[in-house]
Amino acid sequence: MEFRIGQGYDVHRIAEGLPMTLCGVRIECGRGFVAHSDGDVAIHALCDALLGSLALGDIGHLFPDTSDEFAGIDSRILLSRVVGLVRSQGWEPVNADVTIALQAPKVAPYIESMRASLASVMGVDAGCVSVKATTTEKLGFVGRGEGCEVWAVVLVGRK
Ligand code: MG
Repeated sequence: MEFRIGQGYDVHRIAEGLPMTLCGVRIECGRGFVAHSDGDVAIHALCDALLGSLALGDIGHLFPDTSDEFAGIDSRILLSRVVGLVRSQGWEPVNADVTIALQAPKVAPYIESMRASLASVMGVDAGCVSVKATTTEKLGFVGRGEGCEVWAVVLVGRK
C-alpha cells in the first residue's frame, strides 16, 4: 500500500443571523459563517487536506467564490466532488482528523453527528473520521467570537 498525507486549514468570519453549518451539521445558535458557499469551514479544511494529499491544488482553485454555481452551495457537494477526484486517481481516503476551534456554542453535542456526516460523504467508516473541538480560552479572533478556525489532516492510500 502506498500512502499520501494532506493537511488543510480554513477560517470563516462569524456574523449574527446567518446559518451555522459545520461538517454538514446545522447548529442553531443565531450566528453563522460569512461565506460564498454555506460556509462550512470544517468541510473546506477537509477538502483542502484531501486535495493537498495528491497535490491537486486547493478548494478556491477548484470551486471559485466568483462562480454563481457555488453560491450558497452545500459544502457536502464540494466534499463529494473532491473525494470523487481522489478516487478517480486511484486513491482511497484512509482516515481524517479534524480540529475545530470555536469559542461558542459548544461543539461537543454535535461531534458524533459530524463524524457520521463526513464519513457518509467520504464513503468511509465513521471510525475512520475524527472530529475534535476546542475553544481558544477566549484568546484571539476565535476567542472573541469573531471567527472559526479549522485544521484537517487526511491519509489517502492506494494498493
Ligand atoms: Mg472556506
